[in-house]
Amino acid sequence: METNGTAAPIPANSPGVASSPADYLARAVQLAVENVRNEGGPFGAIVVSADGRVFEGLNRVTANLDPSAHAEVTAIRNACQGLGTFDLTGAVLYTSCEPCPMCLATSLWARIDRVYFAADRHDAAEAGFDDAVFYQYFEGGPADRAVMPVAQETLPTDQRIAPFTEWTQNSARTEY
Ligand SMILES: [Zn+2]
Repeated sequence: METNGTAAPIPANSPGVASSPADYLARAVQLAVENVRNEGGPFGAIVVSADGRVFEGLNRVTANLDPSAHAEVTAIRNACQGLGTFDLTGAVLYTSCEPCPMCLATSLWARIDRVYFAADRHDAAEAGFDDAVFYQYFEGGPADRAVMPVAQETLPTDQRIAPFTEWTQNSARTEY
């Protein structure tokens, strides 16, 4: 088993490898526990591709000095690199804890089909993590977004949409 966040794909039908949703979730939880013992956060995740290949991900935020290195994002990155695609249509994400808004959005961008989680945002909050607070940022009112205001700055229209004009006029673009 690799614990460096770059786990290689392993066949889903290998002996001892999980094969049901409950088994994959249990494996994700096991990865999370082991990750704590390896200077990582208490989160682990698994992506199972449409053709049954398994990719693991660990939380390496503090180890890699990367705020985006959540277990789910790491698993999605490993799956995309391993499969040679940015589109995980048909894949399922199993994670030791309810995905935060970033991981949920990453799953949407990756076109993940379904997500299963074990612990929830409130369990994470009790352990000192900001998942519930960040959910409130999106689900609450303006007062909940005071922690990080986001504002659109007024620019001339042609300047504002220049990147999209460049994009739509580029016949060589790869859409996603
Ligand atoms: Zn996350």
